[in-house]
Amino acid sequence: MGTVVVSVDAELGWGFHDYPPDKQPRDRIELSRRGWRRLVRACEESEIPATWAVVGHLFERECNGAHVGHPTPPDWFAHERGDDPMPESLRFAPELIELLTDGPIDHDVGSHTYSHVEFGADYATPELARAECQRAVDAAAVSGLKLSSFVFPRNRIDHREALANAEFTCYRGRRPADGVSPLRKLAQATVLSEPPPLVTPTVDEFGLVNIPASLFLFGFEGVPRRMLSATVGDPIVKQAKLGVDAAARSEDGVCHLWLHPNNLTDAAAIERVRAIFDYIDRTRERTELTVETMRDVAAATIENRNSMTSGQR
Ligand SMILES: [Zn+2]
Ligand SMILES: [Zn+2]
Repeated sequence: MGTVVVSVDAELGWGFHDYPPDKQPRDRIELSRRGWRRLVRACEESEIPATWAVVGHLFERECNGAHVGHPTPPDWFAHERGDDPMPESLRFAPELIELLTDGPIDHDVGSHTYSHVEFGADYATPELARAECQRAVDAAAVSGLKLSSFVFPRNRIDHREALANAEFTCYRGRRPADGVSPLRKLAQATVLSEPPPLVTPTVDEFGLVNIPASLFLFGFEGVPRRMLSATVGDPIVKQAKLGVDAAARSEDGVCHLWLHPNNLTDAAAIERVRAIFDYIDRTRERTELTVETMRDVAAATIENRNSMTSGQR
């Protein structure tokens, strides 16, 4: 029986704070709180439990921007200080996290590091990776949450041992056919009607379950999407439906969809997400398809592996 997994990179102001000011997508950042609420609502309308990989700093309620002892590059938290700091509403979000923990859907609240450190970057020392994991775990523990799932900022996978040490159980890996060119992906989505890849969770050498991505729901934006939407419908909705169908037909394939709250900037984006979630819900009703979080997929994968190894003895 196949499975759909939805994961969400929830970062508000932390997603681009390391970019030069003129390179930051201000409209997306400013609309991100609204996008978060809309995405929660879309999950509730279609009863979709998702994995929300939340930047750890968002669990907090205040800070002076000093972060003494945290081994980041010197100006990493500069946006929190000075005369014109980033608004608090983009740096803290306990009330948005409560929408996930206190609502009707059993969401999986996971981690997107503490301050959106790119683990594959040159500045990301093993010490910093460890500290980012630990601070994220500690910040969530204050809210009574134990984190299991991890999403690497910008999907740059590195320092996996730091995740294992902080007792994470799983992470989102890269889409299998990552060498595929954007044009080929566009052709897959529009002309060829090929589904995105179904993925198989695997256990890595650190005991972590890798649940690779199948499809980013906002992968090719801008003019081409608008052109295509006018002619053949929303190509991403089409792709996602093909993926959901493929998962429903498969024995145990996973169709792993992902997005950010800050992608929900306009009516067309919200409509896309609602159309996909509605299709998942309807497919679940007429087939064996299940919708699971990364946490639950990881637990099942580990249990399965343990029962297989005990069966061999
Ligand atoms: Zn801070
Ligand atoms: Zn991110």
